Amino acid sequence: MTSFNDFGLVEPITRALVDEKYVTPTPIQTQTIPIVLQGRDVIGIAQTGTGKTAAFALPILHHLHTKRLRPEKKSCRVLVLSPTRELSGQISDSFRAYGRHMRPLAVALAIGGVPINRQIRSLAHGVEVLVATPGRLIDLVNQRALTLNQVEILVLDEADRMLDMGFIHDIKRIVAMLRKERQTLFFSATMPQEITRLADAMLRDPARVAVTPPASTVDRVEQRVILTDKSAKPNLLVEVLKTEKTDRVLVFTRTKHGADKVVRALQKTGFAAEAIHGNKSQNQRERVLADFRDGKLRILIATDIAARGIDVDGVSHVVNYDLPNIPESYVHRIGRTARAGADGIAISFCDHEEAPFLRDIERMIRMSIPSTDKRTGERPAHRPAHHNDGNRNNGRPHRGGRQQRGNNGGGGGNSHHGNNSHRSRNGGQGRQVHQAGQQGHQDATAGEPSGIGNVTFLQRSGEPRRNAGHRTQR
Ligand code: AMP
Repeated sequence: MTSFNDFGLVEPITRALVDEKYVTPTPIQTQTIPIVLQGRDVIGIAQTGTGKTAAFALPILHHLHTKRLRPEKKSCRVLVLSPTRELSGQISDSFRAYGRHMRPLAVALAIGGVPINRQIRSLAHGVEVLVATPGRLIDLVNQRALTLNQVEILVLDEADRMLDMGFIHDIKRIVAMLRKERQTLFFSATMPQEITRLADAMLRDPARVAVTPPASTVDRVEQRVILTDKSAKPNLLVEVLKTEKTDRVLVFTRTKHGADKVVRALQKTGFAAEAIHGNKSQNQRERVLADFRDGKLRILIATDIAARGIDVDGVSHVVNYDLPNIPESYVHRIGRTARAGADGIAISFCDHEEAPFLRDIERMIRMSIPSTDKRTGERPAHRPAHHNDGNRNNGRPHRGGRQQRGNNGGGGGNSHHGNNSHRSRNGGQGRQVHQAGQQGHQDATAGEPSGIGNVTFLQRSGEPRRNAGHRTQR
């Protein structure tokens, strides 16, 4: 599938895509759109930045256009649940943009933190599409401003983040209010066990789609590893912040608790840092993110899931304070720097226990990452055999490992499949899914997808992504 015309979408939609300057469907779009058009349930494993929103919004709009029905009062035909106000706003903006030539099309937004009365009014005559965060949706139902028994299509976006933010019970309550004969589209970036169970309960014979976990890393990112003792990490971070010419630094920890600890350690040494993770309120997260974007805050500490929504240009450094035990997460993390054509630096701290994670990462990206050894020597040295200490290629890892290793059985772009040992601890992320290939990208001329393996960070022709299109920056 190399063109949006191949999907058979109705003309008002293809016209909007021309307006948007979308030329080539992304892998998640190529996989998802035909299935949704058939009316099937979908379970999609994809991150923000892959074109996921259009993957569900376009076929939904096609359905609304071809099956015209007047929505009943205080009801919606399509319900999209998303974890945050910011994401909900972006999704409703997308529906409006892709549906700009469709009449009638009422798109409503129901999010917390703003007065409810306007939302009640906007639902009074019924809407085609309602994008909502779970808490506010339940408030609206409780106030009898909305009934959910007319929902034909339910979209659950960023399910794992919903779990992280404690929305899982709200979701179950909402799903119980929907009619059984509906189409359900379920998206999550990871599939921990609880999410798999939720999907099993919500979906009927779903088709599975996923963007292939990334197999190579952004070339523009200069990657380094510092081998260290676990106890030395707080001081090491301070040292890095003092010695590196940093502009905006994004520090990743594995846990929420770990993120808070790093903030406290930095604050003690006089560095202003803040954390975002699932235990922070939405308001706090938005304020911290806005400060980070505006440059008021230079150091942001984040967990993987919380960082998903971060789309900030000008991150000069990503620091992996903890190495992720899922190799794909490493690639997603370092992809936060080197955006919009800039170079970026990724520095990873690796303690003794994390050595196996480093091995998995290097195997997946098929590179040896240059490293410095700052361990005190109390633990046995544990470094991958193929390691090339000090062998730098202008600071960038060289791509020599592919032929030398060849030990993971995967070959080609899927070498990571040869090693699932850590992924399986995390609910088997990325397995048993229908993998979307690079198709649709090879002959792109104007869409200019760029990025990490199949995880595309899209730019339209000549425009930096952040400024492109209809998205409002919040
Ligand atoms: P999403 O993953 O839905 O957040 O989309 C990421 C960005 O890619 C958004 O700014 C979209 O407007 C843009 N986008 C989505 N699909 C395409 C496409 N096929 N071609 C170019 N840009 C796209």
